[in-house]
Amino acid sequence: MRRAVFFFIKIGLLIALAIWLARNPGSVSIQFQDWMVDMPFWAMLLALAVIIVASVVLYRVFSFVVGGPAAFARSRQAAKRERGYHALTQGMVAVAAGDREAASRFARKADTLLNEPPLTLLLSAQAAQLAGDDMAARKYFQSMLQRPETEFLGLRGLLTQALKGGDRTEALKLARRAAEIQPKAQWPVLALMELEAKEGHWKQAEEALDRATATKALPQETLRRHRVALLVERARTAVAEGRSKDALALAQRANEQMPSHVPAAVLVATLRAQAGNRKAATRAIEEAWKIAPHPELAEAWGRIEAIFRPGIDPASLVKRYEALVALDPRAAAAYVALGEACLRADLRDQARTHLEKAWTLAPTQHVFRLLTELARHEDGDGEAMREWLERSAGLHPDPDPVWVCSACGTPAAGWSAVCPSCRGFDTMEWRAAKPALRLADTAPAAILPAASRPAPATTTPDTPAAGLAPEG
Ligand SMILES: [Zn+2]
Repeated sequence: MRRAVFFFIKIGLLIALAIWLARNPGSVSIQFQDWMVDMPFWAMLLALAVIIVASVVLYRVFSFVVGGPAAFARSRQAAKRERGYHALTQGMVAVAAGDREAASRFARKADTLLNEPPLTLLLSAQAAQLAGDDMAARKYFQSMLQRPETEFLGLRGLLTQALKGGDRTEALKLARRAAEIQPKAQWPVLALMELEAKEGHWKQAEEALDRATATKALPQETLRRHRVALLVERARTAVAEGRSKDALALAQRANEQMPSHVPAAVLVATLRAQAGNRKAATRAIEEAWKIAPHPELAEAWGRIEAIFRPGIDPASLVKRYEALVALDPRAAAAYVALGEACLRADLRDQARTHLEKAWTLAPTQHVFRLLTELARHEDGDGEAMREWLERSAGLHPDPDPVWVCSACGTPAAGWSAVCPSCRGFDTMEWRAAKPALRLADTAPAAILPAASRPAPATTTPDTPAAGLAPEG
């Protein structure tokens, strides 16, 4: 509507101008050398208008002819990039979907279309990995190291490859570099901590652990257990190097962090006892014992006593172990230790009582062996042994718990921060090496009554000891 009004106003003005020019005629003369033009004033105006319009049109045509190819090339380039990004996206989807053929194809396509290595290198590396071509993937990861924007990702790729190939030296080098260029990232410090620990660089591993703690890379509890593991190993190294003061300080730090950690408690108790601090040594064992009674704590309990009373007689050790039983009357490990002490003191009746109690609490192979040994020594005519063999035929002791690597499942002679078999860090657990095969769970009930376990007696589950020792 407004445009129409303007249009009519313009037309009106033009008509008014034409009428005014008709009413006020004039002329223009142009003289150039001996050439002369006379024309009416309106004709000159018309000629000027024609010249202006023609110039504008000519300029447009000229600029199209001259600038055209460049603009065309630009739009072609944009389309190429568009297709490149599309190929990149499809390649990433193919990697995620595990489609190795499509991943390689799109990686090549994206690489050709997009001249942007930071974007396509990762896709190419992943496609190569997917195709199982580790050599090619390695090449791409190494190219990524050359550019600051892809260096970190390249390091991660190479580190994964080094770990897969078991090259710990190379892996450690890569982890150090990654942790240096991105100090706040989590995976490099975690990798660094594990790799330093695997090499036995306990102090460096602890430094990496500090950084892992700062980045909250793992749950607090896990970080604390790792720290204790590293401190125990550092303390052990100090012991081996004769630095007993350092060893005690480190072991105490470990024990304070986690009083239930058995190797830390045993170590700190032993070192305190060696330093002459009997009370503190006993306290470390007691505190750990209250949380989790463990055979190694029981063993250390007796060992500490022997440090202060060299050549202690077996009967006194029995007394010492009675005190351990009193700490927690439900702890099977205390009865086992007490029973063993009684055996050494030749107190057979007492030994049998305690071992039977241990059996009712935890029917393990170790207790079974001790009971067998006891029966063998019981009497000269072999009656007790015969009886034991008869009664024990229906018993199925659980495998003894040992230190087992939770990563590879290999049992170890003792705890260590690094698994001797697979070099996993802080993987040792105290448990049965193999899952206990309970015959009662597999055999028909008619053949083996479930009540026969854990009670050693085959008939009277309420008084389990009676089956083994009917007379006592
Ligand atoms: Zn292992």
